Amino acid sequence: MKILVVGSGGREHALCWKLSQNPKVEEILCAPGNGGTAQVGKNVPVKDDDIPALVALAKEEAVDLVVAGPEVPLVLGLSNALEQENIPCFGPNAYAANLEGSKAFSKNVMADAGVPTAPFRVFDEFEPAVAFIREKGAPIVVKADGLAAGKGVVVATTEEEAIEAVEEMMVKKVFGSAGDRVVIEETLKGEEASFLAFCDGRNYALLPSSQDHKAAYEGDTGPNTGGMGAYSPAPILPKEKYAETAEMCIRPILKYLAAKGEPFKGVLYAGLMYTDEGPSVLEYNVRFGDPECQPLLMRLETDLLDIMFACIEGRLDEIDVVSTQQTACGVVVAAEGYPGSYPKGMEVTGLDEADAMEGVKVFQAGTAMKDGKIVTSGGRVLCVTALGDDLGAAQKRAYEAVDKVHFDKSFYRRDIADKGLKRLK
Ligand code: ATP
Repeated sequence: MKILVVGSGGREHALCWKLSQNPKVEEILCAPGNGGTAQVGKNVPVKDDDIPALVALAKEEAVDLVVAGPEVPLVLGLSNALEQENIPCFGPNAYAANLEGSKAFSKNVMADAGVPTAPFRVFDEFEPAVAFIREKGAPIVVKADGLAAGKGVVVATTEEEAIEAVEEMMVKKVFGSAGDRVVIEETLKGEEASFLAFCDGRNYALLPSSQDHKAAYEGDTGPNTGGMGAYSPAPILPKEKYAETAEMCIRPILKYLAAKGEPFKGVLYAGLMYTDEGPSVLEYNVRFGDPECQPLLMRLETDLLDIMFACIEGRLDEIDVVSTQQTACGVVVAAEGYPGSYPKGMEVTGLDEADAMEGVKVFQAGTAMKDGKIVTSGGRVLCVTALGDDLGAAQKRAYEAVDKVHFDKSFYRRDIADKGLKRLK
């Protein structure tokens, strides 16, 4: 069997690594891939947002399955385009991908499907949005409707800050057409967790809870990033709560989309906020999170290829999706300056040594192969992931492995999973 994985992050390295464990898999292509995916399969220089080129590649290589890592190709209709060619794709169609591609769509679906979420209003014009902010006062949250690479949400502490955010989005168009429409919503307070489920349009199979660390620096300070580390499970969402949480935030969405004739097939990711009144959904993503994917796939015991085909073929109820009882912790090692500008081209050493440790896997993100060496090529360079019998053990092992890898001008947070450990105490 031949598989094409789309994307170039640590998540895609983890997907390639996990899929390669199935003996039926003969070849993995990754478009465009990174230094890590090049070690599991073959990188192909096709961008993850070039739908015609991805479809052409899948046809030319006669792949048996396409797996979409990031959201952009899904929102752009990769799944629909492949369906036309009878090529199976793991990831939802463009309509369902709007759950992530349009915040207004997502909030309206949540409201219609009865999913708890912050009260909100949608605006297509600047003046009424400003009037609403003046009426509600601060703190208040302003969100660009479309995809903005993680920068489209402003949690404003003053009315002026909120109005400035709306102006940037709607008038100055800093996010292009993604800011033509904005969602303005109430600010929620609490701890966040991620809850992901495999979905086949009708049924779901849950992955354990996880928690990401968005801020660049320790103590959740500094600018927001794509994620500086993650661990699973997240003590704020214990196993005993999985079933009721899924009935609150996964089942209603599946039912709603199925009734629309647009069944959701792929990974549905609910971003939850635990407020004093209980959990509320902040957002949906339509793919694995990066870096949550890395600890989650380290824990997954059931074959990933079998799960993916079961999702596509609508027979997830035939599969028992099991994760190990062990805890996993992933620490992102980034290049100094990230998420702003950062240097590239530094040689990465110690990868084999870290990988040789029991229960450790180094997933590569912003890396490339150059003259037989791995060099940095992005801001988030590695996600060093470890299993342990409990959260403390997984964290300890992950940092021991981090100590073995080196490149010039690297930085990482030293407090990944501390929040979970504190809650356990
Ligand atoms: P983008 O579209 O730019 O990629 P995103 O998908 O990352 O954005 P969200 O996940 O909706 O956007 O929001 C990002 C972060 O903003 C959340 O993880 C949360 O910390 C914060 N946030 C979002 N909505 C609220 C809210 N109502 N109250 C408090 N914080 C919020």
